[in-house]
Amino acid sequence: MTDIALADLPLRDDLRGRTPYGAPQLNVPIRLNTNENSYPVPDEVTAAMADALGAQLRDLNRYPDRDAVALRADLARYLSARHGRHLAAAQVWAANGSNEVLQQLLQAFGGAGRTALGFTPAYSMHPLIALATGTGWLDGPRAADFGIDTDAAVALIEQRRPEVVFVCSPNNPTGTAVSLETLDAIAAAAPGMVVVDEAYAEFARPGTPTALELLDRYPRLVVTRTMSKAFALAGARVGYLAAAPAVVDALQLVRLPYHLSALTQAVARAALAHSDALLATVDALKTERDRIVTELTAMGLRVAASDANFVLFGGFAGNDQKRVWQALLDDGVLVRDVGLPGWLRVSAGTPVETDAFLTALRSVHPAGA
Ligand code: PMP
Repeated sequence: MTDIALADLPLRDDLRGRTPYGAPQLNVPIRLNTNENSYPVPDEVTAAMADALGAQLRDLNRYPDRDAVALRADLARYLSARHGRHLAAAQVWAANGSNEVLQQLLQAFGGAGRTALGFTPAYSMHPLIALATGTGWLDGPRAADFGIDTDAAVALIEQRRPEVVFVCSPNNPTGTAVSLETLDAIAAAAPGMVVVDEAYAEFARPGTPTALELLDRYPRLVVTRTMSKAFALAGARVGYLAAAPAVVDALQLVRLPYHLSALTQAVARAALAHSDALLATVDALKTERDRIVTELTAMGLRVAASDANFVLFGGFAGNDQKRVWQALLDDGVLVRDVGLPGWLRVSAGTPVETDAFLTALRSVHPAGA
């Protein structure tokens, strides 16, 4: 084989020297670093999925439904039932994880000569997808409590007029949710598309708003969701959005034909038919999240308010989070260093996983230390 180094390939200049997205995938006993759902898919659901897959296998000689019509209808039904307002299948689009939905959004509404704005720290893939799609990126600020200052956000949007504004709520990696007033003000000020990434919506505490409530008023608003977290289907790769039907029309201009395999569509539909069984773990995960918040606060650590299935905690001096991260890993517990000096992020998992994490952390960081 001819050997060639990456640097010697005719790579795009803007990709030179970049590193790929890379949450470590380490084989350790307690993995709490990618906000997965720790609970396996229940047997009754795997049985339904196996039946659904089996029914597809003979027909794999044919391409799948390019527009995933039945799946989108099921997703629209799920969202409508959950939020008590009707959403039509034409308002819903699905792809391989919400990452692909986000990529399609930037392919359609970003691109060369255009800019996307996000409020940092937020989901690290937003700027990476911007880069990959040739979209300029603008970092907006967050307050010390990781909230978004509405006036500052509106002023920045009015001044820079980005074609796309990302708001992540509940926000990864901080866990903090954005108020309806702030979402409303951002949507009113934005000259282009506003994408509210609600990957963790199902874990929010009662009363936490969803941008779905604003869809009727803002035709350029998009709400993205995923089956990777609450539905415990990260491995299946199913994400979706709700927006005006015209937004779905726009995405059909950039999506690859047959992007969502027949197997993926079948698994997702079987999962949605059993959404109660799959979502049964959400309350248990929220309980563990709240336990982590309480315990870490009692240990004298700083903890960000969380409406997600993870907790951002810190108060470590300087870059000491790197030492804590390594010490936890040495104890078999993998958490996430999200690159925020002094902070680490831990996913809420099973009670056993929480116990292991707390025990390891106590030995690394004795209370009051
Ligand atoms: N948005 C946010 C905020 C996330 O944290 C993630 C996954 N970590 C995603 C989107 C992408 O998830 P997926 O592609 O699995 O739907």
